[in-house]
Amino acid sequence: MFFNLTRQFFALLFLSFSLVSIAVSQQTVKSDTLQLNTRQQMLRDIYKELIEINTTDSVGDTTKAAEAMAVRFRAAGFPEADVRVLVHPENKRKGNLVVRYRSANATRKPLLLLAHIDVVEARKEDWSDNLDPFKLTERDGYFYGRGTTDDKAMAAIFVANLIGYKQENAQFDRDIILALTADEEGGDFNGPVFLLKNHRDLVDAEFGINEGGGGKQRKGVKLFNGVQASEKVYQSFLLEVKNKGGHSSLPSKDNAIYRLAAGLERLSKFDFPVNLNEVTRGYFQKMSAIETRQTATDMKTVASTTSDAEALKRLSNSPYYNALMRTTCVATKLEGGHAENALPQTARATINCRILPQEDAKDIHRKLIEVLADDQIAVTFIKEPKPSPPSPLNAGIMRPIEIATRAMWKDVPVVPIMGTGATDSLYFRQIGIPMYGVSGIFSDIDDNRAHGRDERLGVREFYEGQEFLDRLVKSLAGEKTAAIKK
Ligand SMILES: [Zn+2]
Repeated sequence: MFFNLTRQFFALLFLSFSLVSIAVSQQTVKSDTLQLNTRQQMLRDIYKELIEINTTDSVGDTTKAAEAMAVRFRAAGFPEADVRVLVHPENKRKGNLVVRYRSANATRKPLLLLAHIDVVEARKEDWSDNLDPFKLTERDGYFYGRGTTDDKAMAAIFVANLIGYKQENAQFDRDIILALTADEEGGDFNGPVFLLKNHRDLVDAEFGINEGGGGKQRKGVKLFNGVQASEKVYQSFLLEVKNKGGHSSLPSKDNAIYRLAAGLERLSKFDFPVNLNEVTRGYFQKMSAIETRQTATDMKTVASTTSDAEALKRLSNSPYYNALMRTTCVATKLEGGHAENALPQTARATINCRILPQEDAKDIHRKLIEVLADDQIAVTFIKEPKPSPPSPLNAGIMRPIEIATRAMWKDVPVVPIMGTGATDSLYFRQIGIPMYGVSGIFSDIDDNRAHGRDERLGVREFYEGQEFLDRLVKSLAGEKTAAIKK
């Protein structure tokens, strides 16, 4: 995931679970004694291969990873034409893999499985002793390595399960498309952007599933299975004040730095209005049953009406809940002046906004100008807005997720979530292909290591994710026949 504050905020908001968790943690089963079946063993091999191919932006190579997976698909009997390694023409290291699992009598548009195979930089010397970020290490019930959570677990699971379907000769009423892509974490050769521009037909789907969701647990106790159905829009603005300047021994009241500072002061006191959408309303509704005390009451209230100022105020004290309820804009960079002994001719600030998906960046721009309230402060877009419309939470997607969740974890609730950061889902949502962040891979809400040192994923959680995604994908793809061994 591009932005991980979400998980840190989750850590804060679930403090209240700790008592319950301690009581039940005794039931947690040690996971390093698992006996793997054939499908799990294949998954483990694929996972290991992916982790051990360095796919960082600096020196890594997603083409290598894409090709390694292509070899497996061809060996499993996928026709050459349905296994495409598509490399960015300007950078040979930025390859993507698109595989199509064909269904004989497809009656519906394809289902897309999306996972990025690039990873965030990692240096061995920054990790604990005996852990190499580019070696898969299994220890004490965890898999360690860069990408173990973000996002090579999902990538490996999709590969293993698709190969499994081929072995079973499973038939569906739609094709399944797998896209393993480059440069989600940064870099200039984003896979989805490249594929949608140059190979749209290969990845065109009715809807898709991707990272961005996942389960949350504490000390082995599962809290909820999250479905990311929308995400906020990343938009930065440049604020700039120009002034004729002059000698600093002869100052005037009209000073670029003061003007900018005064505008920023006004902005710091401003809150964008609360504006819930289908996903965040559903989130607060569901979480009110999981949370306790005042927070539970406030969530219940806010889910039905946003006119209770006190409830809104209490929830807004949590940066995460606040970010779910409204657009936020915050000053992140500041510069001004050119010499210690000169009046500043320019003063600049960068404002980073996270805009609710149902709001328009142009309106936020207008509002910023109004709040800054100084026509000398020019406000411009740093980059073009990339809107990301929410994906509808209809029964066609939610029922299968609920059924698979219930089959595996009984009463663990399915909770819709809105990402406060961004994933590659946005490029598909933008063009009308709904995307859902859902994996059934649970991670501890107090132990987020994605992008950081000693990234890890629970071994048991990994194989459970495989089973969950197997059930979910079969259901979403409309499985027609029981497994027939060739
Ligand atoms: Zn990611």
